[in-house]
Amino acid sequence: MNIWFATNNVHKKKELEAILGTDLKIPAREGYDFCPKEDADTFRENALIKARELQKLLGRDEPVIADDSGLCVDALGGRPGVLSARYGMENGNKLTSAQQNIMLLDELLEAPKRSARFVCAMVLLLSNDRFFIIQETLEGEIVKKSEMRGEGGFGYDPIFLVPEYGRTLAELSADEKNFLSHRGKAGKIIAKLLKDNV
Ligand code: IMP
Repeated sequence: MNIWFATNNVHKKKELEAILGTDLKIPAREGYDFCPKEDADTFRENALIKARELQKLLGRDEPVIADDSGLCVDALGGRPGVLSARYGMENGNKLTSAQQNIMLLDELLEAPKRSARFVCAMVLLLSNDRFFIIQETLEGEIVKKSEMRGEGGFGYDPIFLVPEYGRTLAELSADEKNFLSHRGKAGKIIAKLLKDNV
């Protein structure tokens, strides 16, 4: 049985495969042009948009997992939130993750309140009317610009401090990150749902 992951992000594919302990098919590798319009205001709606779009492309009811995730910074009123992947790219310009991290740190400057959380909504879509949605979080803090560090993970990992570990997400091993992360926690519940329903 094929299990699909509605993403073009190979880092997220690798993370979720490790969390679920199974191989996942992604559309780009199977010849599908997957460009969903993620224009909803919530993570859960965007996750469902991605899952439905891929099942429509497949034209059959194979299980599809989709996630929508992002970083919500309290001092920025929850931004970049659902726009995390496109943060700073509103004018059509392209930015690397490193440039987005610097931009976010510059926006926060020396703000004393640095609390933030990663959010992950994850959907398991079995058929049009049958699906499960889970939403999980990872609480932490945004480091100061001089404290950005770590080579692992992706995206905003180098600027996100996990207070219990005293390390950024990018300094944790893949196993450590998956144990505590927003995607790891949601994925573990999805793994149980897959076992019981697929
Ligand atoms: P999505 O692919 O639409 O869910 O976009 C999620 C975006 O949020 C990513 O491109 C990253 O910028 C950010 N993000 C989500 N999860 C993580 C994570 O675990 N570490 C770092 N950045 C993340």
